[in-house]
Order: sequence, then structure tokens, then C-alpha cells
Amino acid sequence: MKVLVINCGSSSLKFRLIETENETVIVKGLFERIGGEGGHFVYNPTSGEKYEKDIFIKDHYEAVNILVSALTDPETGVVKSLDEIDAVGHRIVHGGDKFSHAVVLDDAAIKEIEKCADLAPIHNPVNLLGIRACMKYMPDTIMVGAFDTSFHQTMPEEAYLYGIPYEYYKNERIRRYGFHGMSHEYVAHETAKLLNRPIEETKIVTCHIGNGTSITAVKGGKSVDTSMGFTPLAGVLMGTRSGGIDPEIVKYIAKQENKSVQEVMDILNNKSGLYGLSDYLSSDVRDLTAEYVKGNENAKRALNRLAYAITKYIGSYFAVMGGIDAITFTAGVGENSWLVRKLICERLGGFGITFDEKANDEVRGTATISGPDSKVKVFVVPTDEEMSIARQVVQAVTASKK
Ligand code: ADP
Repeated sequence: MKVLVINCGSSSLKFRLIETENETVIVKGLFERIGGEGGHFVYNPTSGEKYEKDIFIKDHYEAVNILVSALTDPETGVVKSLDEIDAVGHRIVHGGDKFSHAVVLDDAAIKEIEKCADLAPIHNPVNLLGIRACMKYMPDTIMVGAFDTSFHQTMPEEAYLYGIPYEYYKNERIRRYGFHGMSHEYVAHETAKLLNRPIEETKIVTCHIGNGTSITAVKGGKSVDTSMGFTPLAGVLMGTRSGGIDPEIVKYIAKQENKSVQEVMDILNNKSGLYGLSDYLSSDVRDLTAEYVKGNENAKRALNRLAYAITKYIGSYFAVMGGIDAITFTAGVGENSWLVRKLICERLGGFGITFDEKANDEVRGTATISGPDSKVKVFVVPTDEEMSIARQVVQAVTASKK
């Protein structure tokens, strides 16, 4: 199948056309600064010339219009007609507890996604905009929604409920949802291949460490617990996000500093995490690493706290799954930071994990960084959320035809 994957952000649209049979990318690219000054379009076909241009892009509809013209253009195009595209897969951030897998988007499904917008007020409306724009320019093509939350729908109740009155779960749907599902699912499957075992027989901890970070326990290929919660603010500290804190802190800061709850939430979302803890040095692990190796105390404090927080989650998932076969690092930091991986692995010695420092220093793409005698394998696997979406689209389309 030829699947067009669409990932809409508030002012961006990333796309990729994938031949799913052999999982090859035909063309990829993005639109940036939609609706504002400095609009930019990048179009990069695998067998053809990459081109980019500065162009004012009024809205997501116009972006899709430009995209379909480029895809079918006699000179730059990669398909003769849009009919060659079998389905479009849309990334949708929040599927609530209604979507446990990707679905073909009919009116009823779209209504449900609209309802989930309460849970993700910034993301879901933009995702819907992308769906509507594609429906306008590709009215005859199957549209599929794939959700960041759906992989975690397999969590048991004891993992997803909070210790607050049950009525808030029943009435307001307050529970742990978890995010980065496409990444965790993709990386868990790649890890099972590296272990050379059927995924059903594996216990894997996937560590997606980027600007946003989440750690997931994947047992038998299913998410059984994850560090993010009702929102992506929960779990370990991140680039600028605090991760989980004592909720009384919100009230206390508001009172002491004479701030509104909204202002405190802004601090927890945008001025905390590595950025806040490094005394506003940086949220970027590249900058913090450069300072860490010079002995900068602010950088050391922030990165050590991050490694400690992730280590605690990994340790707790040993208990949750009754052991671990593999730990896999992925995303911007997980794939690229020798230092963060080292700080975590060094803290895991108590579990019989040994660490191959040289392999860790030399990581390029997929790699094994545990020692040969390690009781648990430790891998680095580049994530590929678009490929994960394309795989889910194939499953959803196949299921819809049965
Ligand atoms: P997002 O959560 O926004 O998708 P990414 O997964 O792309 O984020 O991760 C971005 C982060 O990855 C950057 O902020 C930076 O901290 C980190 N990063 C990227 N490249 C490197 C590198 N070479 N070394 C260390 N950290 C890196």
C-alpha cells in the first residue's frame, strides 16, 4: 500500500509517503510557520531532487493543496494521480479511552475525536484541521486516525487510575492515558527483533527521551504502564516540564509568589525540568552536556536529576513486569546523548546490568550498549513514528475490509 502520513502541529504539517510493502519512504517533507511570516516548504523525494522554498502558507488547507500539487506534479511528482495513494494516516494526539487502535475515519469517529478535544485542547483541533483539509483535496481516499494514546489503552486499571474519588474517573475521564504511543510501539517491536524473540515473550522498557520524555513498560508487546499521565506534564522531568510533583506545590507557589494557577502551570510546563533546574542554563541536552563536562554545577544538577528520575521508573518496571529483558533508548536525547545513557546505565548496576562505554560512545543508529555479561540487554533504536503510523494504517484498512 502507498500510505501518506500527515502529522499536523499548530503551525506545521509534516508528511511522508510510504510504500508499506517494503517500508520504503517515497517522499518526505514539511510545511513550517503556517499562517505566519517566514512560511517554508520542504519537499524531499527519495529518488529525486530535494527542494525547499519560502512561501506564505495561509492555513493547513493551503498546505495540503500545495502538497497534493507537488505529489502529482509532472516534474517533481512521485505519483501520476492521487488515486495511487491508498490511504492517508493522520497522527492524533488524544484518543481518550475510546480508541485502542487506529481506525478508518468516518463521521462517528470524527465526532469522538472532537469530544476528546477537551482532553487535548491544543493538539486535537489542529489534528482535525489536517483531516478536514485532506478530505477536501482527497475526497475519495481512505482516511485513518492513529492516536498517541492508543498503545497505552492496554494498561490495567491499577496502573491507570489515580488515587482520587472514583467519580472523577467515571464523570470526567480523569486517568493516566500516556503519550508517545507510536514511538513506544515501534521501538518495542524493533527491540523484540534485536532480542530475536517473538514480542509476545518479551519484557521491555522503552525510554523515549526528547524534549518530552516518557518511559513505558511493554510486556508481551503491550503497554502495561507508562510515566506520562492525564497530560504529557506527568512523569520524569523533561526539557522544560517539571514531570510529576506534589500537587500542593502549585498552591504554595501561587500563594507565596502571588501568582494565578495558570501562571504556575506555565512555570511547570515551560520553565521547569532541565531548564529550570539548571538555573535557566538550557533545556537542550547538547548545551548541558558541553557544560557538564566542564564541571558546571547547574548542568550536573539537572542531568543527574534526570538520570535519577528515569532510573527510578526503570527500577519500578522491574517490579511491575517481574523482570526486564531489554531497555531501549530512543528520541532526540535517547538516540544522541552518550552522557544521559551513561548516567542512567551506571545507576542500574544493582540489576546486573553492565555497560559497554566504548559502544555507547560510538552509537550511530541502532546499537547494543550493554556488556556481553549484562543480565539485561540495553539498546539504542532510532524511533520512527511515521513508520509506526503507516503500519497502523495497514492494520486499520485491512480490518475495515473484513
Ligand atoms: P521532541 O520531544 O520535541 O520530539 P526530540 O525527540 O527531537 O524532541 O528531542 C530533542 C532534544 O534532543 C533536544 O532538545 C536535545 O536536547 C536533544 N538532542 C538532539 N541532538 C542531540 C545530541 N547530538 N546530543 C545530545 N542531545 C541531543
